[in-house]
Amino acid sequence: MAYDNDNIFARILRGEIPCKKVYENEVALAFEDIRPQTPVHVLVIPKGPYVSLDDFTTAAPADEVGGFFVAVAETARRLGVVDNGYRILANIGRDANQEVAHFHVHIFAGRPLGPMIKRSS
Ligand code: AMP
Repeated sequence: MAYDNDNIFARILRGEIPCKKVYENEVALAFEDIRPQTPVHVLVIPKGPYVSLDDFTTAAPADEVGGFFVAVAETARRLGVVDNGYRILANIGRDANQEVAHFHVHIFAGRPLGPMIKRSS
């Protein structure tokens, strides 16, 4: 899938849409999810134009990929959720219902998070 420069996270990165920033480094930006599903719900996105983890790890240099995942961990530390625990999740593609086609990792925390995934009946 080609990257759409007008997706909502690209617009946040350009400053066209506001966000509640939690943390950023050279390669990543972390901000609060607009529709939080847990008391703490933060998104971490690479600053570069990548649709998916496949796209990101294929197209980006290794230091950018590494810097992104360091930013995910640092964001969790700054949120103060490391001791109680947290969950990271990335929806990628159709079967995962990825809504925004700019690669992102969710950080969920702030209460017991229940089973890892809903079981299908
Ligand atoms: P996903 O289904 O993994 O693609 O999740 C996309 C996430 O982006 C959802 O949790 C949305 O609530 C969140 N979201 C959409 N628009 C915004 C926005 N303008 N600011 C912050 N989060 C957003």
